[in-house]
Amino acid sequence: MSASYDPQNIFAKILRGEAGCVRVDEDEVSLAFMDIMPRAEGHVLVIPKTAARNLFDISAPELARLMPAVQRIARAVKSGMAAEGVVLQQFNESAGGQVVFHLHFHVLPRWSGVALRPPGGPIVQAAELEVHAAKIRAALAAQ
Ligand code: 5GP
Repeated sequence: MSASYDPQNIFAKILRGEAGCVRVDEDEVSLAFMDIMPRAEGHVLVIPKTAARNLFDISAPELARLMPAVQRIARAVKSGMAAEGVVLQQFNESAGGQVVFHLHFHVLPRWSGVALRPPGGPIVQAAELEVHAAKIRAALAAQ
């Protein structure tokens, strides 16, 4: 039997406005915000508004509605952060590296010769995340 969705996970709290985040973008089906422990400058998370634990339980139509937002954010991260490339990461269940059990896509800007930082910290303060979020928002506005 597959694990169920826990509505007390931190991303569900962010969606309900019970926890804060540095917001980048939002539409009917998605929310994009800065990762609090970025593995690269400009590391954004894109999540569906629907309650999905991970790739296994989201419906195919809901996933299809989410992916244009992932593409939009990837384009804006690349241009706003002046990145040379972008990596998407998406982890499923603990053995797959998942820590927060609400489906999310990591959008990671990449530059040649710049390694990703290891996962798990340090936490970056909102004011610093906001500098990168502003660049990505500006790129979104220019799309
Ligand atoms: P994963 O579940 O894919 O392994 O990673 C979860 C991601 O969520 C990590 O990159 C972590 O830094 C990020 N994260 C964990 N808690 C919070 C939080 O409260 N706010 C934000 N913005 N990101 C978080």
